[in-house]
Amino acid sequence: EQLLQVKNLVVNVEDTEILHGIDLEINRGETHVLMGPNGAGKSTLGYALMGSPRYQLTNGQIWFKGQDITEESTDKRAKAGLFLSFQNPLEVPGITLGNFLRNALEQRTGQRIRPWEFRKELKKAMDVLQMDHSYADRDLNVGFSGGEKKKAEILQLLMLKPDLAILDETDSGLDVDAVRTVSKGIEEFQKNQQGSLLVITHSTRILESLHVDVTHVLADGKMILSGDSSLVEDINENGFEKYIGHQE
Ligand code: ADP
Ligand code: MG
Ligand code: MG
Repeated sequence: EQLLQVKNLVVNVEDTEILHGIDLEINRGETHVLMGPNGAGKSTLGYALMGSPRYQLTNGQIWFKGQDITEESTDKRAKAGLFLSFQNPLEVPGITLGNFLRNALEQRTGQRIRPWEFRKELKKAMDVLQMDHSYADRDLNVGFSGGEKKKAEILQLLMLKPDLAILDETDSGLDVDAVRTVSKGIEEFQKNQQGSLLVITHSTRILESLHVDVTHVLADGKMILSGDSSLVEDINENGFEKYIGHQE
């Protein structure tokens, strides 16, 4: 079943064209990896899919769960089941991680959730990520280390159960143990939901325990190549140059 269909997407940032006609199809339950050199436009694609207002769509369409969401707000896209985890998660003083998640979950489902039920779910998810339960009562990301912020993002993923999660370099800047824990969280998401993933990454480590269906390479705002999971290893050993070299 087709979940996401992106057709000829052209995206401008501050009047500069960054993405020059992207096509992408993701089916339900699939995991796609997006690689590419720095500045290729990977984060831009993530933000554009999420409907961030700084990213102007000047051409193309985004279809999600059979609906044209090209003109929809970020809020509506999140409710429909799209999720973007940020490369640099924001610190939000005055709202605890627990309350933030509960609010986000109620927004997403449009239903109230019983506090004890929520706490039970939350603790279960925190255990997967080896997060101390006390973090639920701390202000969102305030004073969290890089690794803890990334864990908080994956905690959101596990709690919100989106249909499609875009993870933007969730593994960057993490030590080996933190990568393993984050990877375990993503694996849990793959296992328990019929959710799909678009994983933006430079590293093979986070992918070790994940099943990858398709790998894409983005360079200079264009999709230059798609392949299976072996492409990830190839690029890590040999770099992007040989593929980019084939382009005009
Ligand atoms: P990647 O995530 O692949 O490293 P980005 O999507 O962050 O690439 O950036 C793609 C290009 O768009 C870069 O040339 C970058 O300078 C530019 N860009 C991205 N976001 C902005 C922004 N908010 N303002 C100005 N330029 C931007
Ligand atoms: Mg980058
Ligand atoms: Mg980026």
